[in-house]
Amino acid sequence: MATQRTFSIIKPDATARNLTGKINAKFEEQGLRVVAQKRMRLSRLQAREFYIVHKDRPFYDELVEYMVSGPVVVQVLEGDNAVLKNREIMGATDPAKAAPGTIRKEFGVDVGQNSVHGSDSSENAATEIAFFFSGIEIVG
Ligand code: UDP
Ligand code: MG
Repeated sequence: MATQRTFSIIKPDATARNLTGKINAKFEEQGLRVVAQKRMRLSRLQAREFYIVHKDRPFYDELVEYMVSGPVVVQVLEGDNAVLKNREIMGATDPAKAAPGTIRKEFGVDVGQNSVHGSDSSENAATEIAFFFSGIEIVG
């Protein structure tokens, strides 16, 4: 598999506990490179739009409020098979079901406050990267 890019968010539960470096170490140790990164506060509108695919799910409003509750770190990660590799490094959505050594197992609080977002396909990765970054902000 050729070099690929994926989109990642270090979520408010993780920034609150000062885990940005420990989470980035997981990416770097397992072959992903942080090629763009910025810390920001999402507006409610940005959070609603970013998670629009989940608008009919019962947890949508709670998810949006959580994502605006504190700073996030939005990132572009690059590496071989980056989309799938990042999903493996993250672990299952519910930290209780995540494999040992994954970010969500080690740091996740619960199924909502699960420390990281990662794109689920290369198509969604491209859309999500473009939502937050311009081309000149991504340096591979
Ligand atoms: N989420 C939640 N309750 C649920 C399922 C998901 O609060 O029952 C939140 C959680 O933060 C999750 C996000 O919604 O990461 C997006 O859900 P998705 O099913 O896309 O999981 P992911 O791709 O993040 O593993
Ligand atoms: Mg998802």
